[in-house]
Amino acid sequence: MRRVFLLFGLIAAGAALAIWFADRPGMVTLQWAGFRFDTSAGVLFALVAVVAIGAAAMYRFWRFLRRAPRNLASARRARRRRQGYRFLTQGMVAVAAGDSSEAARLSKKADRLLQEPPLTMLLSAQAAQLDGDETAARRYFEAMLDEPDMAFLGVRGLLTQAIKAGDSAHALALAERAVALRPKTEWVIEELFAQQIAAADWDAADDTMLQAGRRKVLDPEIVRRRRAVLAVAQCAALDAAGDTGKATSDAMKSAERGCKLDPSLTPATTMLARLLAADGKIGKATRLIENAWRRDPHPELAAVYNTIDAKSGSTGSELDQVKRTQRLSGNNPDHAESHIALARAALSADLWGEARRHLDAVIGQADDESDVGARVYRLMADIEMAERSDAAAAGRWLAKASRPDESWICEACGAVHGAWRAVCGHCGGFDVLRWRTPRNLTPPAPDPADLLDPPLDASPAVLAPT
Ligand SMILES: [Zn+2]
Repeated sequence: MRRVFLLFGLIAAGAALAIWFADRPGMVTLQWAGFRFDTSAGVLFALVAVVAIGAAAMYRFWRFLRRAPRNLASARRARRRRQGYRFLTQGMVAVAAGDSSEAARLSKKADRLLQEPPLTMLLSAQAAQLDGDETAARRYFEAMLDEPDMAFLGVRGLLTQAIKAGDSAHALALAERAVALRPKTEWVIEELFAQQIAAADWDAADDTMLQAGRRKVLDPEIVRRRRAVLAVAQCAALDAAGDTGKATSDAMKSAERGCKLDPSLTPATTMLARLLAADGKIGKATRLIENAWRRDPHPELAAVYNTIDAKSGSTGSELDQVKRTQRLSGNNPDHAESHIALARAALSADLWGEARRHLDAVIGQADDESDVGARVYRLMADIEMAERSDAAAAGRWLAKASRPDESWICEACGAVHGAWRAVCGHCGGFDVLRWRTPRNLTPPAPDPADLLDPPLDASPAVLAPT
């Protein structure tokens, strides 16, 4: 539409110009080198216009010719680049499909066409890996480290290789580098944490969690729980390191931190209570256990409570023990653990009726007799033997002991542990031990560390297949 208007405009202007010249006739005479040329002024103007238009067209053509080689080269480059990208894409598809020879062929083609190593390095590395050539893949990953944009991909490739090869020291160093490059990427943080746990470097793992919490990469509850478990692990390591004043005070600080971060973590409570009692802070240790008992009674709390009693300067008589246990269980009187602790104390003090009454209460609380843990029936059998030496009655109680006792079970691999620890000795999982009833009666081979750390109250007979 605009062109039509322009054309009409030009025709109108031309017509107006022609009329204007016709209204003002005049002659022009050109005389040069023996030639004479007579014409009207209008014709002369028309001639000048034609010459100017012709010159402009010539100039444009000359410019086109001059630029032609450059334009041709850049068109060729663009075509090569397009083709290179197509090979790169197809190569990635080949990698995804697991076709190693096709991937290698396409990566070479893409490399030749694109002439930009960073773009094709990843494809080449992946093709080499598919082909099982880890050495070539490592060379590509290492080359990527020098390219700022590719460094993370290089570190990631090398990290995967190190983990696969079981080279934990190298994997740890690479995970640290990966976190430095991308401190807000969750899997990178998790990988570094896993490597630090595998190296039993609790301090570094705690720092990783602290940073992850600050940067809001992980859920605050996860960070809190992990840091609590790490605090207990740190405390246990310091406690085992020796009896120097510094180690003891650091161990105490770790245990306190663990309790504060997760008050429901029984091992943190028992650890702190033991350290407090060893430091002569009997009242504080006692209150700590009593508070924990109110929340969540646990046989290990009762066991530590009894050792505190021995240090408290009491006569240590069985009757004193009963009184102490009554004070502890008073914090949660109806709980089965309270009854069991009282029954155990009463049995030691030869208070048969009292012991029976508490065990009956535990059995009465259960929906089914088979839901009662074996240790309750074992205590009943002990009473029969201690009071009347009645082996037949004791045998009848033991026959009912079908449900294994609760113990520290790894929820990842099912291994049964005699004592809590931050990392499962079987599968290496972190914070996977839970106080549960074993699901099957044939546990995997015992953790070698358990031999030094026998179960609190577990009879091997119960765990053996029936
Ligand atoms: Zn495990």
